[in-house]
Amino acid sequence: MYDSNNVFAKIIRGEIPSKKIVENEYAVSFYDVNPMCEKHVLVIPKGKYENILDFARHASAAEQAGFWDCFVKTADAIGVNAEFNVFANAGLSAPLFNQSVFHFHLHLLAGEKTDACINIMKEMLCIK
Ligand code: AMP
Repeated sequence: MYDSNNVFAKIIRGEIPSKKIVENEYAVSFYDVNPMCEKHVLVIPKGKYENILDFARHASAAEQAGFWDCFVKTADAIGVNAEFNVFANAGLSAPLFNQSVFHFHLHLLAGEKTDACINIMKEMLCIK
């Protein structure tokens, strides 16, 4: 069940600060506080959806359109066009990365790889 005390719900309510990039009626994007690469941003709906499946199943057409409009404008705003990664974690025991904030968010990663990014990739590939 959705918990309104999660950190992204607090960002949406303006209770804690964030480095916002784009905001519309239905969605907002901001920089990840712990970036894995040069440009690491999060795009979230304003509605109470726990993960991507919850959002895809239950969000209205207007919410989904608003989310994707925010995604596109965010990509434009940070200068992303052809080379990027997008992922969404779901659940505490997801195979690659665990979800730590239970409000649906897309990770959008672009720009230069950092040591943090390279170390994560090495771990995933089991390279010592
Ligand atoms: P996940 O593990 O997919 O749930 O990702 C949650 C992401 O939220 C992580 O990459 C965190 O670094 C990021 N995060 C947590 N708190 C904040 C915050 N206050 N502002 C921006 N990003 C945050």
